[in-house]
Amino acid sequence: FGVGGNPQGKGKQPLKDVLDYGSDDFQWVPQLKTKLQKVFGIQNFRLCQQGACNANVDGRDVVCIMPTGGGKSLTYQLPALLIPGCTIVISPLIALIMDQVHHLREAGVEASMLTGATSKDETNSIYAQLRAMADGEVPSSREIKLLYVTPERVAKAKRFMSILDKLYAGDRLARFVIDEAHCVSQMGHSFRPDYRSLHVLKQMYPRVPIMALSATCPPRVLEDVLKILKMKPIVDGRAAHMNEGTVYFTAPLYRKNLNYKVLPKPSSSAVALKVMVEYILAEHKDESGIVYCLTKKDTEEVAKGLSENGIKSGVYHADVGDADKEALHRRWRDGKVKVVCATIAFGLGIDKGDVRFVLHHSKTLEAYYQESGRAGRDGKDADCVMFYRPQDAMRLSSMVCTDVDGQTKLYNILQFAQSITECRKVIFAKCFSHTSQLSMSSWATEDKDALTPCGHCDNCARAEREDSFERKDVTVQAWQLLKVVDEVRRNGGRVTMSNLVDLARGTGKATYDIQGGGRRRGKGKGKEQGDIDVDAVADGKVDLSKEQTEYLIIELLVTGYLAEQYHSTAYQTNVYLKAGARSVRLTRMSKERLDTLTVDRIVCAFVKHAPAKRARKSKVGNEDGHSEASTSKAKRTRIGKRKYL
Ligand code: ADP
Ligand code: MG
Repeated sequence: FGVGGNPQGKGKQPLKDVLDYGSDDFQWVPQLKTKLQKVFGIQNFRLCQQGACNANVDGRDVVCIMPTGGGKSLTYQLPALLIPGCTIVISPLIALIMDQVHHLREAGVEASMLTGATSKDETNSIYAQLRAMADGEVPSSREIKLLYVTPERVAKAKRFMSILDKLYAGDRLARFVIDEAHCVSQMGHSFRPDYRSLHVLKQMYPRVPIMALSATCPPRVLEDVLKILKMKPIVDGRAAHMNEGTVYFTAPLYRKNLNYKVLPKPSSSAVALKVMVEYILAEHKDESGIVYCLTKKDTEEVAKGLSENGIKSGVYHADVGDADKEALHRRWRDGKVKVVCATIAFGLGIDKGDVRFVLHHSKTLEAYYQESGRAGRDGKDADCVMFYRPQDAMRLSSMVCTDVDGQTKLYNILQFAQSITECRKVIFAKCFSHTSQLSMSSWATEDKDALTPCGHCDNCARAEREDSFERKDVTVQAWQLLKVVDEVRRNGGRVTMSNLVDLARGTGKATYDIQGGGRRRGKGKGKEQGDIDVDAVADGKVDLSKEQTEYLIIELLVTGYLAEQYHSTAYQTNVYLKAGARSVRLTRMSKERLDTLTVDRIVCAFVKHAPAKRARKSKVGNEDGHSEASTSKAKRTRIGKRKYL
């Protein structure tokens, strides 16, 4: 094999060095297709599988980004059967590895694994086999074609590294495959320190190609992954130059059968739980699902609450013992447990087809997307519902404030959650698009449908009903909020989001915190609380509902009019709001002059409240499955004054 499988190479001069790996132009394609059917029982390649397989057999470094459930495993398992030697697969989870090895062996493929769970005898026998392979004593048909290992094996386990050396010396190392490759980067959403050591692979075995696989790997993360793994920059897999760069494949991130929607989350956790119970009973009674929670404690509480309401649920997070995890997974797969309440720890390698719903409380859009990938793997409809309330932004902010890129990621998910007008799929596409990073025109055409609305998410449904939301110019209200923030600062105080809502709306117990040494003005309630005269400071009270005010505050935050200010105590990090970099654009003006503003107007789309009777307490997921009866949402768009005033 080796490089240069392109049969066009000889005749056609201009195309000589350019390979389209997605094509049939390679001598091994018939063999690939036969094995695809015979070994894997699959009739046709899907998405970019053929391209990735071809590049793989051709010995290239490969990056393949495909949605969860898209079929990434096949892109290295199938080529491994055609290439001499052993393909080493590095995968983060033992459960996932066991699953894969089981399936492969059932299909008659020589596959093995070395994990913490592998017995001593088995380990010894695998090492003996590998040694024999390295010494050229094993006929190709009896070689271990795929060896799965957990990342801590690499670099840390001397015995393992020395067998790799031997295989390398004997030309029996076919390839390294790094599954869930985003774990390599600290900028990724699930960094794993053990993945760091994978940088040794290229250092020690420069002739062995690497394949990196992931479902969500935004451009910056990908760049970081390539750098750490010492792989060359990416080139388009449909027009790759021979021998040059890491061949890159991506498949549309969007899965048609998933219905994305955001539902308002009540402020008390008891009511929030009730809403989830009602949603599940109304929309997915007796169906299987997952509830992703932010903390281990949340998973326990939600599972308890669901179970008490007749929805059989289990808990899955890092502290749950292996045996319990496995038992839960099994009972869930068999339908004896309906809902798994989990942290992000649950997911890698889940291969349950009929997950009809996933409820999310996610920290990042990547996490939401990754989690939603576990729904509807059987191709049938499934709902991916995010529960959101603006207040969560502050809690999330304190959780991610020390993460690399934490704020950018948080703002991305806030914008997603706050949007009531833009197709969810389009927002995903914009956020995850790799195309923008590449200066290759061929790229843009690959995903040409990415910006076409899906037609069935909550926002697409809303777009068809003009009366379901209203656009409102809230420039004045934004100015008022910023004036309040400014006044609190001048008084030496600190204002939380809920303080700000109360102060600006002039409701009852409005106060803010006084910092040590700060002076106190107004008629403060206690020693360390201050308040302000909103009529004097902001020329009147903000005339929006509490919910609308909260939405507006988040809009101001993500657009730079407001910013967070962290204050850490021994126990927690408190988040306060301060003026953002753009704030002066509004605050330097008098209220009267705001009318003359044109370009910087702030316009929000608010969900219209349904008629009084249905409002508020109405069941989540009313007749059309949407939630305009509940809390309002806002979306700021910059729109010229003329059009909307
Ligand atoms: P990923 O790793 O991308 O999340 P997997 O490799 O686990 O996805 O594949 C998901 C499922 O899709 C598996 O059950 C696999 O057998 C199936 N599959 C993969 N490729 C194809 C294909 N071309 N046609 C039909 N099913 C496929
Ligand atoms: Mg996978």
